[in-house]
Amino acid sequence: MVVDRSRRTCLLCDAPFEGRTFLCRACSDRYRGQPVPTSIRKRFYEELDRHYPTRSNTGGDFNAPVALLREIERLPRDARVLELGSGGGFLGARLHALGFHSVTLSDFTATSLAALRERAPDATLVVCDAAALPFSSRTFDVVISSDVLEHLPDVELHISEVARVLVPGGQYFLKTPNRITAAAYYRLRGLHDSYFWHPSMLSPDELRATFARHGFSTRFLAQPHLTGAQLAKLPGPSILRPIAGRVSLGWLPPIARPHLEVVATHLSHYDRR
Ligand SMILES: [Zn+2]
Repeated sequence: MVVDRSRRTCLLCDAPFEGRTFLCRACSDRYRGQPVPTSIRKRFYEELDRHYPTRSNTGGDFNAPVALLREIERLPRDARVLELGSGGGFLGARLHALGFHSVTLSDFTATSLAALRERAPDATLVVCDAAALPFSSRTFDVVISSDVLEHLPDVELHISEVARVLVPGGQYFLKTPNRITAAAYYRLRGLHDSYFWHPSMLSPDELRATFARHGFSTRFLAQPHLTGAQLAKLPGPSILRPIAGRVSLGWLPPIARPHLEVVATHLSHYDRR
C-alpha cells in the first residue's frame, strides 16, 4: 500500500511525526533485528486498516494479481481453493464471480474478517496465521496468496504448511514484491520501518530456492503492467501515471520486475508424509 508524505501518528504508540513511514523512529528501532511479537504485528495491521481505510488492501483493490488471475481462470471450478491473507475479499469475490464454489478465505486480523463477511458472504471464512494452518493435510487443490508472503516472519514455516495442506501435485499461486527492486525503492524513500511490515522479501532466485526446499517447482509469470498501487508510488507528477500504466512490462526479466507472480507446483514425488 502507498501513503504520501504527511503529518501522521505512529500506528503503535500514537506519537505524531511527519513522514512516509507507519512507525515513528523509536518504534521502528525497538523491533529492528529481532522477532516482532504476533500480538504487536496484529495490532499494527488492524491500526493500518483503521488509519488508512482507503489505501489498505482491506479497503481497496489496488494490487490485483493480474497475471495469476489469467492462470486461475483456467482451473476447474470444483477445485478446493484456500486463499491466505484475504484482506478485503476482492480476490475472493472474483473467485466467486468466476464460478469457484469451494472457496475458503482467511486472514488474521479482526478488521479483515469484518470486511470479508460483507464482501464474500458465500465463502467459508477462517481466522488463521498463514504459518499455522488449521486444516488437515491434503485438504486443498489450490492455495492463493496475494501480497502476503512478504509480511510473514517465518516464510519456511509458511511454505511447509502450504505444502502440507495441498494435495500432491497441488498448486500455490502467489504474488509478492521482488526484493531486488522493492528494497531499492524503500531505501530511496527512507522507509526505515519496511523491515517491520515486509520482513520476508525474496528475489526471484531466493524464491525459487526456498520453494524447492519444500518440494515445489516454480514458474514465474510476466506482469503485464504496473498495478494501481505501484503507479501511485511513482515519483514525479501524477499526470504521468496513466501513461506509465499503459507501458508494457511483459518483456522485463524476473529480476527487474516490481513484483513476482508465481505458480508453485507441489511435486508429488517429494511427498513423504
Ligand atoms: Zn511509535
